[in-house]
Order: sequence, then structure tokens, then C-alpha cells
Amino acid sequence: MAEQGNKSLEDRLKGSFDCAGLCSLYQIKAEFRLNKANAMRDYLDEHYLEAQFSFMTALTKTDSVSEKDAISGKLLDCAKQLFRISPTEEEFNRLRSTYEFTIRTHETADNFLSYMNFLGKDMAEVHHINMMAEAIRVGEIALERFPEDHRIHSEMYELYVFTENYKEAQKRLEALVKLKFDDPDYLINEFGKMLWQPGEVFEMKKAPFYIIMEYKGHAILRNPEALQKYGRYMLRNINTHEEWALYTLYKAWKGKPTLDGIKKDVVEAFDKAAASLRRRKNGEQFKALHKNYAEVAKLKKELRNENPNATRVDEVKEFSKEVKVVLPREIKAHLDDYVIGQEKAKMGVSVGYYMHLLRLRQAMDKNAKKLDKSNMLLLGPTGSGKTYMLNMLAKMSGVPFVVIDTSKVTSAGYVGDKAEQCLLALLGAANGNVELAQRGIVYLDEADKIRAIKGGGKDVNGEGAQQQYLKLLEGSVVNVEVSQGKYIQIDTTNILFVVGGAFSFSNEGGSIGEVIGAREKHIGFRMGGHEEAPKNKGISGRLTDKDLIEYGFIPEFVGRLHHRIVLEQLSERELRKILTEPADAVIPQYVEMFRLSDVKLDVRPDALDTIAEEAYALNAGARSLRTICDSLFEDALFYLPGSSIKNYSVGRGEVLKAVGKN
Ligand code: ADP
Repeated sequence: MAEQGNKSLEDRLKGSFDCAGLCSLYQIKAEFRLNKANAMRDYLDEHYLEAQFSFMTALTKTDSVSEKDAISGKLLDCAKQLFRISPTEEEFNRLRSTYEFTIRTHETADNFLSYMNFLGKDMAEVHHINMMAEAIRVGEIALERFPEDHRIHSEMYELYVFTENYKEAQKRLEALVKLKFDDPDYLINEFGKMLWQPGEVFEMKKAPFYIIMEYKGHAILRNPEALQKYGRYMLRNINTHEEWALYTLYKAWKGKPTLDGIKKDVVEAFDKAAASLRRRKNGEQFKALHKNYAEVAKLKKELRNENPNATRVDEVKEFSKEVKVVLPREIKAHLDDYVIGQEKAKMGVSVGYYMHLLRLRQAMDKNAKKLDKSNMLLLGPTGSGKTYMLNMLAKMSGVPFVVIDTSKVTSAGYVGDKAEQCLLALLGAANGNVELAQRGIVYLDEADKIRAIKGGGKDVNGEGAQQQYLKLLEGSVVNVEVSQGKYIQIDTTNILFVVGGAFSFSNEGGSIGEVIGAREKHIGFRMGGHEEAPKNKGISGRLTDKDLIEYGFIPEFVGRLHHRIVLEQLSERELRKILTEPADAVIPQYVEMFRLSDVKLDVRPDALDTIAEEAYALNAGARSLRTICDSLFEDALFYLPGSSIKNYSVGRGEVLKAVGKN
């Protein structure tokens, strides 16, 4: 059997061995080398005609892209040299056909660009012949072939401006802006003020910057670095856009508060926007601005009080070592102002934090009995309020708070972040104040991604990452590299670590709910329908250490997470409430934002119902609310400010349209 198998394999190998084909391949390769060698020799001897011919042949005989690139460059140079020596019509035509030959044989964006450049720029500048129309014709073909190459759009834009075809020029500019939206340096360098000013240079209908905002609507809001650059440029160079600059920088700040210099940027924009409104005697908006950006005003005060050379010292002085213990019911009352539903979880968190504060107070008192370090475990679906709740807690107590994506941490030997990275982030959030950082809250998100998958052999980071975090969770002094070669010691004893995640729908082995279900079934402990509920509903009170270990956590890690809190999936009714009820609810914020722009926004009840309904269907909890609202209001926020429309009302129809259902 085996022999037969081998035989047929040998036969098959023989059959697939194409001698003739291989020989001709070698021959072509040999010809290519010979042609190239001849061409180079002639080229160096300045026998351009001969060299050109050999390069042409060589170009058809190689498959290597890098060879083709190198040879087409040389080939075109030969043709250009010939035309330079004898600038006759005949040589010009030869040069053109050489370009066309090169593009046909090696169709690259570079070759197209070089031809366009020759027809457009070289001909005009060196030979004073207008070949723009020809260049545009070539460019149109290039655009069809390489629609994503911004250089072609840019070249075409220039050609259209030269030929005064502004309509097409605008189209190219728009395409270019869309392609390079993530690269503000490029756009700003190339187009500077033009990005913001419509109708200045030519009949632009809309300024490209608005196109950027419209085109990538949400995406740009997720790119704080780019927003900061656009905002800064607008603020310093465009003197009619202070409010836009403020909006842009504010969004950047909200998106990534650790951006270099962003706080100063926001404050500067705030001042300029306020001054501009004052100048325009727009008292109403001026008031609204102050109210709406109350936190900016606070930030401004903070910055003003800060002595830049003594920041840390000042802060340490302000930092009170004394621990103020807040009662659980007071903590919960504060959470109630923001977090809708999740009653049990709010109580759990309040108690957990209360215990943490008690421990802290004991730790500060030399004579007091020390309490064990307690950390929390939060389980709950995406967008149910895990991060949000902790954020509110941190704000209430004035301690720094960071959210860390644990799935990015890998064990030694793999590329990725180290667990200590979270301390660096915390230090940043504490403005470099070590003492404050040592009292902060670290939320280790996506913890279900660092479970070890048993027997799968796929544990790239799971157990290794848990081991790394364990050290921090236990409380230890860690050396953190703050800049190259410079270390700071951070003691994690009093840092509150909260480990959290959805713990469901994970790749292998299902959810924690399934693990619990399986165990209960095994010991014959049946609770109405629980084994039928693979999601995490109703797991509160049933979760044991064993389940967490079975799920993929090492026992030591589980042992460090005594306090466990389960959040439930938010209902449609709760989602609707989240739109309007919390102190920082989205809808009132939009109303305010429109008011700032002199537009009265009316969000009708059927709109609220529909937003909640659609968000619920998206299954990403309250996160979907924001996404839907963003697309619902984005357009209006771009078009209405400054227009004659003063009232804007949205209902079910508008919402459905925003989610692409109408
Ligand atoms: P996750 O549970 O995935 O950590 P988040 O806490 O980040 O979700 O929730 C995303 C956003 O949704 C929050 O910033 C908050 O605005 C809103 N949100 C989530 N849950 C609630 C809730 N229970 N009450 C009020 N707002 C909520």
C-alpha cells in the first residue's frame, strides 16, 4: 500500500516537472542579464540610443519588480538625454513613445507620475511648451488605474488649477483630503489655509476641512492626534474659526487627555473663542460657551494656578495624605446620579470601594491593624457601565484613573506591552505625582482575553500576562521606566486594581455562564433553566473560585480578586433613560451644543424610543447610543450652525435614516 503510494507520488512529481519550460525560463533570464549588462555599458559610455534599446528589451525579460523599477528609470533617462541633446520633434515623439512603452510594460503609479510630470512641468518649464491637456489625459488614465494614490490626485489638482478647470480641481482636492485625512501634516503642509477657507482661492463650494469632518465623521473623532493637529493649525493660523478650533481640540482632549500640550491648547482655544464672541457682542453664546465648557473653565483655572516649574511640588502640597472614608450609601448616591439600573452592581462597587478606603486609612496609621489588599472583579456585557462606574468613582474621590487593555500585554519573549505599563499610565494621569498615582484606580479591561486556554496550545499571553499582573495585584514596589534609562519606584499596595470584562462569547469554551452551568449540572444542582442560559444572565451569587479557574485564570490570580460584581445587560427601557437622565446624559448635551450655535433642537419622544430600540438591537449596550446619536446629529451640526435654519426637530424617521434603515 505504502509502496504504491510512493510510486504514484514519484510519477506525479515527474509528470509535473516541465523541463522545456524551465530551460526557456533560464534562457529568458540569461537574455535579461546580457541585455542589462550591454545597456549599462552603453549607458555609462553615453551611447544612449543603443542603451535605450537594450534597456527596452531587458524590461520585457524580467519579472522582478525592483529590476523593472530600476530599468524603467534608466530607460527613460536615456530617452530624455537624447531629447536634451537634440530637442527635435522626432526625438520628442520618441521620448513619448518610450514613456508609453515603459508604462505598458511596467504599469506603476510612479511611471504614470513621471510621464505626467514630464508633460506638465518639464515641458512648460524647460521647453516652454504647453502640454497640460496631454498631461491631464495621461493623469485620467492613471487615476482609473490607481485611484488610491494620493500623489496622482495631487498632480491632477495642480494641472487643473493651471488650466483653470476649478470644478475638477475641487474634485481632486476632495478626493485627496479623504485619502490623506489621517495625515494632517501632509494636508496642512500642502494646502495650509486653503483647508479651511472656501471660495478664497477659487470657487470652492465647501472648505476641505468640512469635507474631512463630513467624510470620516466618526473616524476623525476617534483620532485625537489628528484632531489636535488640525485644531492647533486652525487656532494659530485661521482667525475666523476659534469656535471650531475649540470644538476640535476639546474633542481631542476628551479622546486622549494625555496628548502632549492638549490642555494648554484647549484653554487657548477657549480664550480665543470667548474673546471672539465678546468682540462680536454675542452675549448669549458667550454665556453658553462658559456653561457648556464648564470643565474647560475649570481646567483653565487649574493651569493658571500652576507654576510650570514647580508643578509637582505644588501638587504634592495639595495632596492630602489623610484618607477621607465615604460611606457606602453616599458612594452609591453619587453613582445613582450617573449610572442607570445596575442596582446590585452599584451596591457592590460602593461596598468594595468603602472597604478599600478603610484599608487605606489603616495603612496610613502606623499603629493600626493592617487589612488585606482587596481588588475587584467586574463581570458584565459590553457597554453596561463597568468603565463608566469606576470613572465616576475616581472622579468623586479625586484620584487618577486609567483603563488598560490587558489583551495587549504579553509574556516575556513576545512583542507587546509589559504589565507595568499601566503604572506609567497612572503616573501620567496623576500629572507625574507619584504619591497620588499610588492611590489611583487601575481598570484592567478585557481580562477575559488573558485567560489561559487549556490544551489549545494557543496561550500566547494568557497565563504569562496573569503572572505579570499578579505581582501588581499583590502589592509590590515596581521600577517603572519613565524615560530612557530613568526609573521611578511605584508602590502598588494602595492602588485599587479592578479586573473586568464581558466573560462571554469568548473564542473557545464559551462564557463563564456556561462554565457555571456545567458545574452545577455536574453536581446535580439544578436551578430553573440556568443550564439553558449560556450568557451571563443571573450568574451573580453563583460564581465560585473554581469556575474562574476553570474559565482559565490561575488560582493565585483568582485569590486576589475577592470582591466580585456582576453587571447585567441593560434593557431597552434603561437605554432610553440613559439618553436623558444621567447628569452627563447625551441628549441634553446635544441640545446645549445646538443652542450654542443658535439652533433649537427638539428630540421628540418617538426619536428617543427608536434610538433605544436600535441601540438594544445592536447589542453593545449603552455604547451604541452614542454611536447612533453621533450619526444622527453629525450632519446637522455641520450644516446648521451659521445657516438661516433656527429650529431642528428629529423623530423616528431621522433616527432610522441615521442607522441606515430608511
Ligand atoms: P463597559 O461596560 O464596556 O466598560 P462603559 O462603561 O464604557 O462600558 O459604557 C460606555 C458608555 O455608556 C459610558 O461612557 C456611559 O456613557 C454609558 N453607560 C453605560 N452603562 C451605563 C449605565 N448603566 N448608566 C448610564 N450610562 C451608561
